Amino acid sequence: MTTSMYGAYGGRYVPETLIPALDELERGWAEALADPSFREELDQLGERYVGRPTPLYEAERFAPDGRRIVLKREDLNHTGAHKINNALGQILLASRLGKRRIVAETGAGQHGVATATVCARFGLECVVYMGAEDMRRQHPNVERMRLLGAEVRAVEFGTRTLKEATSEAIRDWIASVETTYYLIGSCVGPAPYPAIVRELQAVIGREARRQMLGTYDRLPDVVVACVGGGSNAIGLFAGFLDDDVRLVGVEAAGAASLGSGRGAVLHGARSSVLVDDDGQILDAHSISAGLDYPGVGPEHAALRDSGRATYVTATDEEALAAFHRLAETEGILPALEPAHALARALDIDAELVLVGLSGRGDKDLAEVLEH
Ligand SMILES: *Cc1c(COP(=O)(O)O)cnc(C)c1O
Repeated sequence: MTTSMYGAYGGRYVPETLIPALDELERGWAEALADPSFREELDQLGERYVGRPTPLYEAERFAPDGRRIVLKREDLNHTGAHKINNALGQILLASRLGKRRIVAETGAGQHGVATATVCARFGLECVVYMGAEDMRRQHPNVERMRLLGAEVRAVEFGTRTLKEATSEAIRDWIASVETTYYLIGSCVGPAPYPAIVRELQAVIGREARRQMLGTYDRLPDVVVACVGGGSNAIGLFAGFLDDDVRLVGVEAAGAASLGSGRGAVLHGARSSVLVDDDGQILDAHSISAGLDYPGVGPEHAALRDSGRATYVTATDEEALAAFHRLAETEGILPALEPAHALARALDIDAELVLVGLSGRGDKDLAEVLEH
């Protein structure tokens, strides 16, 4: 059976009507994993369509004197971020389950673009829910999704961002579960989604481990990744969980679900969530739309509690400074999300640090120039 609980976290906090669909998903996923042709098709598309394996690149001029910082370049994937690893795997799963209609939520628009991309590739109908405020902040991604043939539906309530978009996507799925596959964008949501997304992103960590040994003949001392919902981080960490390697997740200071959250239920699972004293979900605030979420994947909450991983924060200003430093020293524009990880990597006192560069910064130019 797929893992459904991570310590006290995870589970399925959903309406009764969704349980058969989650059971079907769990069965379909187990069958897919046991079928060599699934893995073969995924690997082949990963190589020829996405551009895997992504390189490791040592940022020699970015790193402070006497230390080495190595980047795992997920920004070089087709569509510019790690999101495509997950979208591609889940679209193959949806096809196996015979679903012809896909719904998804998106924050920055990166998951929406990845989903619209694979729907175009497989000829499936695609509906993406996006907060109206995010549509304004990330307009080019709205246009991208439309050019790829997706329908983008504006969500006009609450903070008009990712939290509400996710609620709307789940509402759609509840009403259309017979024909529709819900393609979730991070390692959150009811079981088995966190386990599915983790496995599809674990390609990052498996490659990185092999590449570290190949190039440096050793593992890094520390692995650092930014944490929104937590999928790029869990994917990178997955390659090093059993090793003597420190794992550090970096949250946005205004969206620190692990640093400042409490046990609560959000979007179908129990995790560490930003809530007030009455248990109401608080609004998150970050310059990077991809980290602007009050919840986090349940496995991260368990890794925090066990002490296997530690979680720290970076402010908007620190992320912006790291963005400019990487641009000016290495000629790489990072997305603002991994700029948080880059900021903390600069002050980690270790010889060899591996950082997950989860995406490229082209989508963030307007936000950066405004500051
Ligand atoms: C969406 C996104 C994130 C945050 O999502 P995780 O699930 O935490 O990985 C981080 N970086 C980039 C580039 C993104 O697009």
